[in-house]
Parts: sequence; structure tokens; C-alpha cells
Amino acid sequence: MSIRIQGARLPDGTRSDLLIEDGVFVDALSGPAERTIDADGLTALPGLVDLHTHLREPGSEQSETVLTGSRAAAIGGFTAVFAMANTMPVQDTAGVVEQVLSLGERHGYVTVRPIGAVTAGLAGERLSEIGAMAQSRARVRVFSDDGQCVSDPLLMRRALEYVTTFGGVVAQHSQDPRLTVGAQMNEGAVSSELGLGGWPSVAEESIIARDVLLAQHVGARLHVCHVSTAGSVEVIRWAKARGIAVTAEATPHHLLLTEELVRSYDARYKVNPPLRRDEDVIALREALADGTIDIVATDHAPHPHEAKECAWDEAANGMVGLESALPVVQAAMVDTGLLSWADVARVLSTTPARIGLLDGYDRPLGLGAPAHVTLIDPSANREFALSDLRGKSTNSPYLGRRLPGRIVTTIHHGYPTVLDGELLDATTVAASAEAARG
Ligand SMILES: [Zn+2]
Repeated sequence: MSIRIQGARLPDGTRSDLLIEDGVFVDALSGPAERTIDADGLTALPGLVDLHTHLREPGSEQSETVLTGSRAAAIGGFTAVFAMANTMPVQDTAGVVEQVLSLGERHGYVTVRPIGAVTAGLAGERLSEIGAMAQSRARVRVFSDDGQCVSDPLLMRRALEYVTTFGGVVAQHSQDPRLTVGAQMNEGAVSSELGLGGWPSVAEESIIARDVLLAQHVGARLHVCHVSTAGSVEVIRWAKARGIAVTAEATPHHLLLTEELVRSYDARYKVNPPLRRDEDVIALREALADGTIDIVATDHAPHPHEAKECAWDEAANGMVGLESALPVVQAAMVDTGLLSWADVARVLSTTPARIGLLDGYDRPLGLGAPAHVTLIDPSANREFALSDLRGKSTNSPYLGRRLPGRIVTTIHHGYPTVLDGELLDATTVAASAEAARG
């Protein structure tokens, strides 16, 4: 299959044709193509990579499956997602991670890289089969108990030491469990006023401080999931200044939304870590702009209606985020002048790929590189609607909110998964994926 993308604006602002042949970018002057995509007025980004997605399969297929989550990712401009380990059974053995890998390959909308659990069953008591998962066909390099914090410092140390032997990374969900018993929202003036249990900033910051010191002590790489407070930014800034190998992510929702939304008691705004104060949002934006926070990751967390349409204190934590991530990043970071489109390519594609040791994203849109590309119309502006959601769940905090930008086309490994803002059907994509595997 050959595709010419005509007249797209590249992340650096220049305009150029892109020619794709047999899954890679080739010289655009080298000839005609079977299909031409008119990209006049569109910006081409390298295919987006999400380091933090919950696909829910196996075990919670009523919320999401690898197929439906892959479709949500593709329509959001993603070409690769890292699937968190808190499935049922947990992704803590070679067998389960290989199952998730195979489902992703078969459906073909995006590359699915399973994340392995740090501890068996996410129970926080003993290490999982880290080596077996690393050596499996899934070649797991990112390990996380996300949803749970690896709170035992000795287990965290052992995990950091272990993954270092094959260049892996531990992605920590930083939440001191004792300091957050009964937590329902950010701890502060609003939680006192509403009478809801508070999730204090220090419960995140104290774990990050401990973990960067552990990473330094054993010479390991640490990744911090969903940083949410100004104090956490200060700790990470300090650690990076000392040369500690720490990377960090912020979610789109923590870059845009604040705890004031909790006053609505609408459980779509219930998430872990919770929405914080204005000052925290400002600090996270500055940290993403100056590189203290390395990437944006969605923490896409689908839940069925019954888990969200109930009293606040009974509702599940989490929001879907794959379909809305790029528009939210544009609203929070690009339209505010804090990031360029080249920066967006860095925080949503090349750097998450580098952290997760995902091949094929180190030469974005470059000749000979695998053709993962997302075409967007940054001038679009519309109300985000149910019809924008393509996963199985609808727990989005953005429904009814105006967001900029629109994802027009997504190309994964040289074949389209989204054209003119519409998903290609599952049979076509699966056939393209099979052909691309050769
Ligand atoms: Zn988490």
C-alpha cells in the first residue's frame, strides 16, 4: 500500500508532502501513490503514544476491551498504547501479557504494549514474574501496579533493581495508602466545605520523594504516573537537577480541570489522583513546558454507567481520555502559547516511546522510519459530544464542553485506521495489520 499525504504542515511549521510505501516513509519525490490524502490546512504529527491506558481486558469487558480501547485510541490520533496491568487476571505473568499483546496485534488499530504488574496480583506483598514477562513475546519493559501504590519501600527497591538488569522502568502510582484512607477529593478548603474526605498533596509528594531517592540509591530509572500537585513538581525538579533518572507524566485532565468541578457532585469528575487547585494546574503546565514533566499520558479509565451514575462517595475513580487527549492538550498548552506543535510531538509521541522503549518512534516522520502519523485540523472548534467517544464507556468529563482541534486521519504502520474523522471498520483494519506483518 502506498499513500501520499499532500501539503501537510509538519510540526516545525514547514509544509511538505509525505510519501508512505510498505509501511515506511520514503522520499516524497520518488513517484505516484495508490492513494492521495489532501492535507491542506492540516498539521501532521508523529502517531501519538500513550504510556498509560486501561484497556480492561481480560476481566472487565463490560467497561472496555482491547478492540474498543484500540478504536478509542485510533480516533484520538494514537498509534500505540501501553496497557496497564490491573486487569483480571492481573497482567503479572507471561501468559496474560502475551494474551493482551496478541489481541492488540490481531485488531491492528494501534500497537498495544502490555505493562507488567510489579507485585503478584497487585497485592503489594511479593514481586510478580518480572523476568518471565520481560523475556516473553510481549517483551515487557514498563512495570506498574497502577491503581495501587507500591508502598513497601523494600519491594519498590527490589523492583527498581530487577528492571534495571534489562533497561526497564517502574511506573509508580504515587499515593501513600495510609494518608488517603477514605479520600474522596483533593484535601483543602473545598473538601472541608463539602464535607468530603480529603486526599492530601503530601500523600503523593512523600512517595515521589522516597522513590527518587531509591532510584538514585540503586541507579535505576523511575517513572512517576499522573503528577497532580505543585509540590510534586518541585520534588521532581530537585531530583532532575541532581541527575536522578526520573521521568514524569501529567494527564490532560490535571492540565485543564480543577477541584471546583466537584461542587457539582457529578462523578465524571471523580478521579485518582483527584482534580486539584488552580495553583496546581498552573504549576503542571509550567512543568510540562520547561521539561520537568516529560510527557502527557491519558490514564484512560473506562467505567460502566452504574459505576459513575451514583452517589459521589460510591462512584468509581477515573475518566476516559483517549479520544479527548489531543484537543485538551491543545486547549491547555498550545492555544495558551506554552507548547508548540513540535513540543506536542515530543510530549505525546517521541518521549513516551523513549520512556517505554517502544521502537519506531525515534525519527518522527523521517525517511525510512515506520509510518505512524496523525493529521489534525488545529483550527477546528466544536462541542465535545457522545459521538466523539468510540470506546465502550462514556465517563468523559468533557461532554458538552467546547474543545479546539479535530483528529482527521490516523495512520498506523503505513495503513489508515481513521480517514476523514471516521474509523475504518474492524475487518479492513485487521486485514491491513495482517498484510503489514507480512
Ligand atoms: Zn494511577
